[in-house]
Amino acid sequence: MLVMEVLKEHNVKAGPDITVKNTVIGVLALQGAFREHIGAIKKCGAMAREIKFPQHLDSVDGLIIPGGESTTIYKLMQKYNFGPALEKFYNQKKPIFGTCAGLILLAEEVKGDSFGFGYIDITVDRNAYGRQVDSFELPVVLKLGSANANNNIIFESGAETAAGPDKFHAVFIRAPKIEKAGEKVQVLGSVDSVPVLARQENVLVCAFHPELTDDLRIHQYFIDMVIKSKNMIKSDANN
Ligand code: GLN
Repeated sequence: MLVMEVLKEHNVKAGPDITVKNTVIGVLALQGAFREHIGAIKKCGAMAREIKFPQHLDSVDGLIIPGGESTTIYKLMQKYNFGPALEKFYNQKKPIFGTCAGLILLAEEVKGDSFGFGYIDITVDRNAYGRQVDSFELPVVLKLGSANANNNIIFESGAETAAGPDKFHAVFIRAPKIEKAGEKVQVLGSVDSVPVLARQENVLVCAFHPELTDDLRIHQYFIDMVIKSKNMIKSDANN
């Protein structure tokens, strides 16, 4: 179901001028599965922009760091000096969503590696699933329902999908494993007690690839986070 249909069904509004339609999601487009995320965002009814240079971050409300090769993405981010612009984005409380390699880049600690922006308190093992079983697919139960006090949007997690109600058909490709999650981390989905979808404030991470399926619920959830943060930023500016 598209975001606007969900809104209509629940008779809720995203605020007078902050809507899904005028929400802009940037997708880091240096390497990896950025095109698929752009497709998913557009299907949700929001706008999507490729982020190739740090200054592109100024014109978006939320950012997706896609799956791919975390070392390569990190090196390219360094080459183009993304650090300060990303820090500013994070400090402005604009939501960031990292999938797979993106999750690794946002982590507090990456075992055996020196990168990780430290925006979510997780320790990650990049190669925990090893080579033989480096790709697998599983139905995962997610806790995505969200109704908040300011009452912008409510997304139901119970939509019927190929994987069944409440389940998300999760595609894992050389997936990172979250070995430790701090107290502030909210686990929204797990496999064998290992978190695979998690959130800390405005940072969302996913160990699998939601952009490779037709199920838009995780992207809708992220857009919901972005709209809520836009409302907060706007009300802060008005105070
Ligand atoms: N294992 C990869 C890495 O370390 C991530 C895989 C992915 O993004 N699908 O970057």
